[in-house]
Amino acid sequence: AWADAVGPRTVVLASPRSFCAGVERAIEIVERALEKHGAPVYVRRQIVHNTHVVHQLQGRGAVFVDEVEEVPEGSTLVFAAHGVSPAVRRAAVDRGLSVVDATCPLVTKVHNEVRRYTGRGETVFLIGHAEHEEVEGTVGEAPDNVVVVGDVAAARTVTARDPSRTAYTMQTTLALDEAEEIASVLRERFPGLSAPRKDDICYATTNRQQALRAIAREVDLVLVAGSGNSSNSRRLVEVSERAGTPAVLVDGCADIDLRRLAGAGRIGLTAGASAPPHLVTETVEALRGLGPVSVAENPLTEEEMTFTLPREVL
Ligand code: SF4
Repeated sequence: AWADAVGPRTVVLASPRSFCAGVERAIEIVERALEKHGAPVYVRRQIVHNTHVVHQLQGRGAVFVDEVEEVPEGSTLVFAAHGVSPAVRRAAVDRGLSVVDATCPLVTKVHNEVRRYTGRGETVFLIGHAEHEEVEGTVGEAPDNVVVVGDVAAARTVTARDPSRTAYTMQTTLALDEAEEIASVLRERFPGLSAPRKDDICYATTNRQQALRAIAREVDLVLVAGSGNSSNSRRLVEVSERAGTPAVLVDGCADIDLRRLAGAGRIGLTAGASAPPHLVTETVEALRGLGPVSVAENPLTEEEMTFTLPREVL
């Protein structure tokens, strides 16, 4: 396999790629909480869906737990970037924990929409993946009045208590085209459906998908740096495949299957919003081990988004 994979290559970098403002903020919150309170600082669930980020923070004294009940009373607990339901917030307060909330403000925005719509009696169709933590948290805002719609087939059959009082929202990390297709089926079936002014898919998800789509057709294979449970990274693989270019998700460059590289003279490279930039440089270095590599990059757009930190860590 090694001999077949050897040869000169061009790597085309999708840009923007890698960390978004919400992920950078979440990591900084854990780092600052550690500085301020000392280890251990507890984090409910993976702070962001990336194994490297989690291991790095574990090394500095972060302890990752699944549920609030596992955290010793009186400790500091950080909520992950994907957000939590009000029930989880209450459980943390009841346990006397000092909470620092690393929920991305763009996820909070979707929570607020769900509260607004259900507060005026509407059933909310939440377009997203039922098993994803973000969706779990968003549904928790109004469990009896939110219906998760996972695909077009579900959009065609879903029902509401009062079909004239409905709304939709979205998970922030969906594939743009797929989510739009689902939304259009809902709009057709439920005239008067309330919708957010702007779709809920976040700027970072949008930019990474568009940047990849812009290069996918000019390469033989796309590598997406990201962990297996990262929604936006997995969507990047699908975006490439829909553009007709095979793509593989790689958690780290040790994962790259050399057989996939055989005959791939042009490689597209991107990283999900939770994947650290060093994975991209390491991947390029690993490819250099197989022959000369020239790197091309043509940024589609510049990102200037930043979010303020919660006062608990200032
Ligand atoms: Fe926030 Fe989007 Fe990043 Fe998720 S992917 S943390 S919603 S900016």
